[in-house]
Amino acid sequence: MQVLVVGAGVIGLAVARAAALRGHEVVVAEATGGIANGVSSRNSEVIHGGLYYPTGSSRARHCVRGRRMLYAFCASHGVGHRKCGKLVVATNEAELAKVETIRAQAQANGVENIEMIGGNAARAMESELSCIGALHSPETGIIDSHGFMMALWGELEERGGAIAFETSVERMSFKAPHWRVQFSGRDAGTLDFDAVVNAAGLGAQALARRIEDYPADKVPRLILAKGNYFGFAGRPAFSRLIYPTPVDGGLGVHVTLDLAGRMRFGPDVEWIKEEAYSIDPRRADSFYERIRAYWPGLPADSLVPDYCGIRPKLTGPGEPAADFMIAAEAAHGMPRLVNLFGIESPGLTSSLSIAEEVAGCLA
Ligand SMILES: Cc1cc2nc3c(=O)[nH]c(=O)nc-3n(C[C@H](O)[C@H](O)[C@H](O)COP(=O)(O)OP(=O)(O)OC[C@H]3O[C@@H](n4cnc5c(N)ncnc54)[C@H](O)[C@@H]3O)c2cc1C
Repeated sequence: MQVLVVGAGVIGLAVARAAALRGHEVVVAEATGGIANGVSSRNSEVIHGGLYYPTGSSRARHCVRGRRMLYAFCASHGVGHRKCGKLVVATNEAELAKVETIRAQAQANGVENIEMIGGNAARAMESELSCIGALHSPETGIIDSHGFMMALWGELEERGGAIAFETSVERMSFKAPHWRVQFSGRDAGTLDFDAVVNAAGLGAQALARRIEDYPADKVPRLILAKGNYFGFAGRPAFSRLIYPTPVDGGLGVHVTLDLAGRMRFGPDVEWIKEEAYSIDPRRADSFYERIRAYWPGLPADSLVPDYCGIRPKLTGPGEPAADFMIAAEAAHGMPRLVNLFGIESPGLTSSLSIAEEVAGCLA
């Protein structure tokens, strides 16, 4: 089949590679001039264990399976990564109860090697930490996400696939037996495909609305939740990822590390109406307060605005977190069309597993 994938983020690239490995002819259309210019270059680069998500949900399933696939892929393709482990810390009795709930959830999700440890054991691992107990997840790690996406792109091209950059999908319609797709930009024109995957990230809903006859009630809301990061201008205090207990809309302001050992904090949750990537430096005030709950040694004036990413959420403040929405024919009635909505965290970790599911829907 001739397959069109819209979007060259981590999800589009993983889907394109999976489809090419199954023998399909694959073209990726990407509106910008390069890969990973959207949500995929603005995240924590954490390979998540799969601790938090409701058992049986798409997020739990794809995160745990995707993580195992991702470590294997990194090993076989020479992609930089480090299984550094993570501590979810409790600083009071109420948080300890929450962390215990996360442990039970993680166990139900089949996450390997997790254990509850006391405050002293946590401090033996990370001497600067202040907590009364923690959940240790040794399977959690960090990845060079750009290197990962370059490897996906390389394998796509090896299998004959290609990416059309600066090329946007404007609209499409199903004219049996094909999808007729109209492009604008560098490769403007109209082409026919057997199957289409909409992996347009923050643009997925807008694109779905431009599919002729696509049921309007099957396009979910798009709610934007910005996550701001602050860099730490000093020697890293931790060698593992340190997470507080989760907050509404996110996992809490946590310690993230990159492969060069640099430490930064974030992302927080800022509900916004329109895409915007500036960081208000005053948000640092709340960062100091939240970080000092588990790292009292955080020096004054050590945080500097770094970058931010926008979560493509399907639910808003106070509402239960939505699952990934992988909408194939059974969901909307249109043949060989998969729309991917709400692929926020842990989308990077889940990408190879999501790609398997999507490629399986195309036949
Ligand atoms: C703050 C934050 C932190 C995160 N941390 C983690 C983490 O640590 N671990 C983890 O596993 N996940 C994490 N995630 C989630 C992860 O980053 C995303 O799930 C993933 O990057 C989504 O990739 P995507 O390919 O769907 O979207 P994108 O990367 O946004 O790609 C979509 C692409 O589609 C293109 N496009 C849009 N419309 C069109 C069109 N009409 N025609 C052509 N092209 C189009 C865009 O230009 C873009 O390049 C985080 C997310 C955020 C926001």
